Amino acid sequence: MDAFPYNQGELCAEAVKLGDLATAYGTPLYVYSRTRLLGNYRAYADAFGARATICYAVKANPNGAILGELAKAGAGADVVSGGEMARAHRAGVAPDKIVFAGVGKTADELRAGLALGIRQFNVESLAELRLLADIAAQMGRIAPLVLRINPDVHAPTHAKIATGKKDNKFGLPKSEWRPAIQFLLDNRHLRLRGLGMHIGSQLLTLDPFAQAYAVLRAHLVELRAVGFAIDTVDLGGGIGIVYQAGQVQPDLMALAALAQQHLGDLDLHWILEPGRSIIGDAGILLTRVISRKHNGEKDFLVVDAAMNDLLRPTLYQAYHHILPVKAMGDAAAWPLGDLVGPVCETGDYLAQDRPLPPAHSGDLLAIMGAGAYGASMASTYNSRPLVAEAMVDGARHGLIRRRQQLADLWADEMAWA
Ligand SMILES: *Cc1c(COP(=O)(O)O)cnc(C)c1O
Repeated sequence: MDAFPYNQGELCAEAVKLGDLATAYGTPLYVYSRTRLLGNYRAYADAFGARATICYAVKANPNGAILGELAKAGAGADVVSGGEMARAHRAGVAPDKIVFAGVGKTADELRAGLALGIRQFNVESLAELRLLADIAAQMGRIAPLVLRINPDVHAPTHAKIATGKKDNKFGLPKSEWRPAIQFLLDNRHLRLRGLGMHIGSQLLTLDPFAQAYAVLRAHLVELRAVGFAIDTVDLGGGIGIVYQAGQVQPDLMALAALAQQHLGDLDLHWILEPGRSIIGDAGILLTRVISRKHNGEKDFLVVDAAMNDLLRPTLYQAYHHILPVKAMGDAAAWPLGDLVGPVCETGDYLAQDRPLPPAHSGDLLAIMGAGAYGASMASTYNSRPLVAEAMVDGARHGLIRRRQQLADLWADEMAWA
């Protein structure tokens, strides 16, 4: 299903004209397709079936309405902070479907997870194992966990989102594998449920997954041989999405078949932690052109959205497709230029050296594929209030986050007494 189709020359979100949303809610505005969101979730649930729990990676987009719709559909949550855990629980995700990942969980966060009764902690170091054991002992609990191993595979993605090589900060260091196993064998406040991994984000080939599954398998077999009654393998984040022409999204049925091939006979429950591929292509950032500008050799289109609203281009040199809300003819004939925001940073751009719609002041543009790591990374830099977010379902639409008010910007500040 095309969540953002042109209808009689006007770009829509499902059956709603984006122009109508801009009028109703203002710009910049994040717009999400509920149908696409739930379709993306169901594609995972159908491909992996009852042997898997799909734990949506909350960091991709933590909006409570999005979490709530996914929870109702049966999703669990992958959280990386106490804040995300509280959000997921509040939105209706059952604690026994919450997994807590992350390289730096604090004692307070571990305590909160134990008190809530989450399904598992994904532990990344011996030091974390010791801290978790101490806290579980103090609370008279047994902490369920998986060890996150670092499969040391090369994931062909942007360096800032590759996590599965041995020289980045993620996963249990190889040198800690044996000490961790010994510690788990000796400690009665910890229950090892299995292993986990996460090799990186925005992967468009299945090969790195296959390599990582093989590494996981060898370690799982070793744990069974040592005598652990394991029941879980956490396969990490999801597949990449199509940001630009020529990219092809990998097939989830093929990914599930790979998991089956490498891990199927071990009779474990599978956890998946997709974020980007659940909400990424279900969301856009709608923005209005402020002006056109010609500087030196270059053309600039200045819009009311900026790097504080969508950081991915600045942070990762990420590509987002730009579409005019009112169709503007053949893109091959568009002039080259930069799409930039009003923030006072040279790095503030949304598209660079690309054919851009020949738009003028007042025209609306859609920045595609902005549902994941868009609103969730937004800041108020330059004292720009956080952007409003709207959801569409067929012809229905509504706000799922109101635009921040100016007074919200300084509400938590205090005068120097
Ligand atoms: C970021 C992250 C994910 C989600 O990755 P996507 O590419 O968005 O699917 C899953 N698990 C962990 C541990 C992560 O850090």
